[in-house]
Amino acid sequence: MDNNLIFKSNIPVTRPKLPDFKNYTNKISELWDSRWVTNDGLFHEEFKEKIKTYLNVNQVELFSNGHMSLELAIKSLSLKGEVITTPFTFVSTIHALTNCGLKPVFCDINPEDFNIDSSKIEELITEKTSAILAVHVFGIPCNVEEIDRIAKKYNLRVIYDAAHAFGVRVDGNSIANYGDITMFSLHATKVMNSIEGGILVYKDINLKEKLKALKNFGIVSQESIKYIGTNAKMNEFQAAMGILNIEDIDKDISQRKEIHEKYIEILCECVETIRFKNNAENNYAYFPILLKDKITRDWLHNRLKEYNVTTRKYFYPLCNDIECYDYSSENTPIAGNISDRILVLPMFTDLNISDVKKVSEIVNLELGVYNAKI
Ligand SMILES: *Cc1c(COP(=O)(O)O)cnc(C)c1O
Repeated sequence: MDNNLIFKSNIPVTRPKLPDFKNYTNKISELWDSRWVTNDGLFHEEFKEKIKTYLNVNQVELFSNGHMSLELAIKSLSLKGEVITTPFTFVSTIHALTNCGLKPVFCDINPEDFNIDSSKIEELITEKTSAILAVHVFGIPCNVEEIDRIAKKYNLRVIYDAAHAFGVRVDGNSIANYGDITMFSLHATKVMNSIEGGILVYKDINLKEKLKALKNFGIVSQESIKYIGTNAKMNEFQAAMGILNIEDIDKDISQRKEIHEKYIEILCECVETIRFKNNAENNYAYFPILLKDKITRDWLHNRLKEYNVTTRKYFYPLCNDIECYDYSSENTPIAGNISDRILVLPMFTDLNISDVKKVSEIVNLELGVYNAKI
């Protein structure tokens, strides 16, 4: 352990990007005049337009958070039975299906991009299958063309959990152009945030009324409550935060890119790093590394704590290995292997390049010592 490399204050694994304080207070001061603080206010509409422009899409609805928007996306499609999904995701994906009365069927992942392995989807399709819920893990696009082909062949709906993927483009197009519905999370820890928040981008114009109503108790008009809805509206304070943050998003992503490149430059070859696809523009949402095995990963996670660096085993445990469910990870060995070996290093817009250099040096030093011992 090199005491000179210990950070004086903790380096978190992520940190919310906030706009200038004065800009935010100026923006929200209007709300004290109008007293219109939620239910499709002016900021809500302004934010929605900005998102449409940025993502270059037409049909968008905003929600209180990513999870509720995912649940309502599933609900709006009236799915039944089984949905093929991935175990290598945040629990939200699986809870959303379960809360809608659906059974998740876990497909193994691909070791290159950690996304659902599209070549293993077809063998899991039964007569009960109604949809595929895929996740663009760490902002890396799934094999969208192949998923599209399978969905067409078997008449399945496709929902993407793009919680990690705001701003990602595939072949020059927004990642939101694939599938029936795409969900983006605007949680504080995501690349683009509105404190909490969720976006659905959807293809079928007929879903508009339903999605709008579902987040507002199913109310279509004062005397017509057409759906069994919930409360999942985005409020004006969230929208104001979103409006200010989306103005800076390109700059934020380029800062993340610099951090990413610094890690790649300094980290030794003893760690495997994330691999991007050639046809995608990335958002540098996370910086995961893969270690040799679980023991090494857990050891490094603990060692970095001693240096005041927080890292995260993300995603570990797998969603088919968590105690609130009775599933098994037996049939998803690749996901099991990746989940045991993965460690996410600090990555956020304001992270100093000199700190990135230092974190990388600590990782190199500690792994060097560790590997020499065994
Ligand atoms: C963050 C996240 C969610 C949930 O989004 P919230 O906005 O936090 O509700 C869902 N899926 C994945 C993969 C996530 O990372």
